[in-house]
Amino acid sequence: MAANVSPRNAPRPLDVEAVRRDFPILATTVHGRPLTYLDSAASSQRARPVLEAVEHYERHSHANVHRGVHALSQAATAAFEGARERVRRFINAVSVKEVIFVRGTTEGINLVAQSYARPRLRPGDEILITALEHHANIVPWQMVCEQTGAHLRVAPINRRGEVPFDEFQRQLSPRTRLAAFAHISNALGTVLPVKRMIEAARAQGAVVLIDGAQAVPHARVDVRALGADFYTFSGHKMYAPTGIGVLYGREELLAAMPPWQGGGDMILTVSFEKTTYNELPAKFEAGTPNISGAVGLAAAMDYLEGLGIEAVAAHEQHLLELATVELGRMPQIELVGTAAHKAAVLSFTMKGVHAHDLGTILDADGVAVRTGHHCAMPVMTFFGLPATARASFACYNTEEDVARLVRALERAREVFG
Ligand code: PLP
Repeated sequence: MAANVSPRNAPRPLDVEAVRRDFPILATTVHGRPLTYLDSAASSQRARPVLEAVEHYERHSHANVHRGVHALSQAATAAFEGARERVRRFINAVSVKEVIFVRGTTEGINLVAQSYARPRLRPGDEILITALEHHANIVPWQMVCEQTGAHLRVAPINRRGEVPFDEFQRQLSPRTRLAAFAHISNALGTVLPVKRMIEAARAQGAVVLIDGAQAVPHARVDVRALGADFYTFSGHKMYAPTGIGVLYGREELLAAMPPWQGGGDMILTVSFEKTTYNELPAKFEAGTPNISGAVGLAAAMDYLEGLGIEAVAAHEQHLLELATVELGRMPQIELVGTAAHKAAVLSFTMKGVHAHDLGTILDADGVAVRTGHHCAMPVMTFFGLPATARASFACYNTEEDVARLVRALERAREVFG
C-alpha cells in the first residue's frame, strides 16, 4: 500500500518519511552522499505504485490496443482506455473524447498550433502569450505565425516575475484569436491568475490554451471550472513515466479540427481514393500509443490523489517558504522570481559564480538542482542573466533537503571565495 493514502477530500499532513519510502530512487547515493533531489520541475521521480503498475502491465497485459480480438489485446485496450477515463476524472473533463494522449506538453501545444491555429489564422490575426513562457509555449506559435502571417504578441512580466493582469488585458483585442499561457512558470515558480486570464481572453473571442506542465503535480486542476479550451501537461512531472502526456480539448473544438498526424488507429476506412477519419479521441492518436505510459500515468494520478493534492501542495509550499527565507539570508544569493503567488520553484543566482559552476559544486554534495535558462531564454534576458540555479520541490522533499541545499551553497561560497 502506498504511503499516506487517505480518502479523497480528507486532507491531512503529509507523512513525508512514508512518502519517501515510496520512491526507491531516493535511496541513491551520489558521490558518496545521500541524494538530495531538487530537480522535480524538470522531471519528478516515480513512485513505487507507478513502477509496479507499469511492470504489471508489461508482464501480464501487453499487446497492441484496439485492433485485436484476442484476450491480451483486449486487456491492453482495457488498460489504455481505463487510463483515459482516469485522466478524465483527474481533470474533470466532460468526456473521454476530450482526453488525447500525447508524448507530453510539447506535443500537446504543437498539436493545437498545427491543427487548430494553422488552418484558421490569417494575416492580421494575433496570438497572445506571456513573457514567462517555456520555449514549448513560444516556438510552436512562432512557427504558426510564420505559416499564416499572424502576429505574436507578448504580455509583459514585472520584476517580481508576475504577469500583471491589466497588462495582459491591454494586449487583448478582437484580433486575438488564441491566447496561450502557463498555469505555473517553470523558471520562476509564478502561479498565474489563469481563471481571470481565461475569462478575459474568452470575452474577446479568443480560444485559450493553458500549459499545465508545472501545475498538475501541485494543484487540483479542474478544466471545467477553469473554463480552458485546451489544457496540456506531461506525465513525467507528476510521478509518471516519460513519453506520456495529455492534451485536453473541449469536444466541440477537437471535433472541428483536422487530424494532425496520419497513420493507423486514426482512420475508419482507407482507400487510395479517400480516407475517412476516426472519431475522437482516436482521430488525434495515429500509430501505436504509449500504452504502458498511460497505465503509469493513471497510477500516478491514483497515487497523487491518495496523498491528497492539497496536502502535497501545502507541504511543498512550506518547503518553498523555508527555502526562500534561508536563501534570502545569504547575502551572496539573489532570488529570481519573487511573485506573491508561487509554487514549488526557487530560482537564484550566486554573485560572481556562473550557475553551471554552482550546479557542479552542489552536485558534488549530492544536491541535484537545475542550472541554465530552463528553456525560458526570454525570462533570462528580461532579468539580464545568462542562467539561474533552480531548486524545485515535490511531495518527497524534506526540511533536511533544504538544510542540505543551504550547507552546499555555503560550501560553494567558500570554494569560489
Ligand atoms: N511547459 C512548461 C512550463 C514546462 O516546465 C515544460 C518542461 O519543462 C514544458 C512545457 C515542456 O514539457 P515536455 O518537455 O514534457 O514536453
